[in-house]
Amino acid sequence: MESLDTIFELCKEAGVHEQAVIPVEKIKFSDEVRHLCEVNYCGSYGKTWACPPGVGSVEECREKCMAFTQVYIFTTWHPLEDSLDLDGMQEGKAAHEEVCARVRKIFEENFAETLVLTSEGCGNCQTCTYPDAPCRFPDHMCPSVESYGIFVNEEAAEAGIHYINGANTVTYFGNVFF
Ligand code: SF4
Repeated sequence: MESLDTIFELCKEAGVHEQAVIPVEKIKFSDEVRHLCEVNYCGSYGKTWACPPGVGSVEECREKCMAFTQVYIFTTWHPLEDSLDLDGMQEGKAAHEEVCARVRKIFEENFAETLVLTSEGCGNCQTCTYPDAPCRFPDHMCPSVESYGIFVNEEAAEAGIHYINGANTVTYFGNVFF
């Protein structure tokens, strides 16, 4: 197994902007985040197994996370033309998911068990099986951080990394429990 320093270097090379490791006990889970999901600002609520309500209750999500001892928190950031640049946000999200896949591989090569959370639902399939049939790729499905009841701004503060990275940029978060 590589040292955490080496894993940090590999993740930087994979495109990570900021990163930190904190104990899982520092992560707070809240049903309040679910209320934000229900507003459906991202349009993913009730659309995939990776988002509420399909992802399970906040308590079920918390129990899955608490089976691990540490969480690697990372960000990617992306430039926008302006604060209404929806295409830029989509491009940023796609780029974030590519980084997330590389980070996931790094952790899977070093730890027997991991749980990966990323941003805004699951885009693995053109059409999700939800709710009619089980997920096609449960081992590669990444729920969003928020779907697990985690306030991203709070975990950013705990980890000492930036929640936002300046005007006309978008920052996306990912978590790897290990
Ligand atoms: S992997 Fe496919 S079936 Fe599973 S949650 Fe994602 S989109 Fe849905």
